Amino acid sequence: MAKIRRVLSWSGGKDSSASIVVCYENNIHIDAVVMSEVMFDHLRNISGENPKHIKWVYEVAIPIIEKKFGYKVIIVKDKSDYIKEFNHIIKKSKKVERNGKKAGWFIGGMCVGNDRLKMRPLRKFFKEFGECETIVGIAADEHKRQETKTMNGKRSVLVEYGITEEMTYDICRKYNLLSPTYDDKKRGGCWFCPNQSIEEFANLKKNYPQLWEELKILSQDTQIVSQGFKYGETFDCVERQVDCINNQLSLFDFIETTGESV
Ligand code: SF4
Repeated sequence: MAKIRRVLSWSGGKDSSASIVVCYENNIHIDAVVMSEVMFDHLRNISGENPKHIKWVYEVAIPIIEKKFGYKVIIVKDKSDYIKEFNHIIKKSKKVERNGKKAGWFIGGMCVGNDRLKMRPLRKFFKEFGECETIVGIAADEHKRQETKTMNGKRSVLVEYGITEEMTYDICRKYNLLSPTYDDKKRGGCWFCPNQSIEEFANLKKNYPQLWEELKILSQDTQIVSQGFKYGETFDCVERQVDCINNQLSLFDFIETTGESV
């Protein structure tokens, strides 16, 4: 009987990382662990993923998965990136006033990035890989997700072994496979994502000012179809709220370290 070819779809999140551990501990063969990395700018090799998360993926997680577990990790990237999508000139919009302008910011709730930058390279990978069993990181208590198309025809070892979302934290910690973003209680995804809270953007500007500067430069482009950066709010408007949060934090830091009152 021909051996089943098996691919585990990995995001670096706790559920898919715990799935890798379950496979390892139960001697489940995997031909490839595949992850899709969204890029901000291919030319300058700037990833679009949460910076702390993607650093951990390359420097901590991949060596463990490959060297300790013996599973091959494949990172796929679409040939497009945020910068290309931002600068894409609209040609055939039904709203004629848009034609000739740049597509600009990804729109919260209707982000084209998920399909074009995240899912498209995965579809290409699976098409080229050929017939295989796909393991996805859906936990035993994620009943709604088990009914969606994410699960359709795929296998979940977490469901098979009765592993709930809560249990995945300890399973990952056991092998240092819990992304540091969980310590910060931060969401994963792209650092430029319009769905982030203002607090998360404030965190981005404070900790990664060079990435914030990238967005600031883009915000000065007058050729884009809309200046709505985050659910209709302009970048400048979001930046004012971000600065307000970061300035408050600096004040608290000052009081804490000096013990002075204001
Ligand atoms: S994380 Fe946000 S910006 Fe990135 S693909 Fe998903 S919705 Fe789009």
